[in-house]
Amino acid sequence: MNIQHYKQRLLDLEKTLSGRIGQEAEQGRGEFIDSAHDVGDASVADEVASEEFTEAEHNSDVLQQVRDALGRVEDGTFGTCIVDGGPIEEQRLEAVPWTPYCLKHARRLEVAAPSRTPSL
Ligand SMILES: [Zn+2]
Repeated sequence: MNIQHYKQRLLDLEKTLSGRIGQEAEQGRGEFIDSAHDVGDASVADEVASEEFTEAEHNSDVLQQVRDALGRVEDGTFGTCIVDGGPIEEQRLEAVPWTPYCLKHARRLEVAAPSRTPSL
């Protein structure tokens, strides 16, 4: 596996995402402020603004994962599943270079997540 290749991709992603997060937060804020002046369109503007905030939040989630992955590059553990330490499929790393899980465990987590209910 070519770690340098993934490291470079992660560094590029980190740069792109951190730039995008700043922009989106600003756009979202701008529209939110504008909406205060125009009561008629306020609800639409609010919706647009909150969508952009959500997008920015998603980006910052990914950014956090990208940074974690870069930490694993430094540790020498990049490309191994954090659940069982097994190798992560190269195809998967090519698609989602920041993933900390192999395909098997990612699937298991995706399946587990929606059914997670608070136990009373
Ligand atoms: Zn695994």
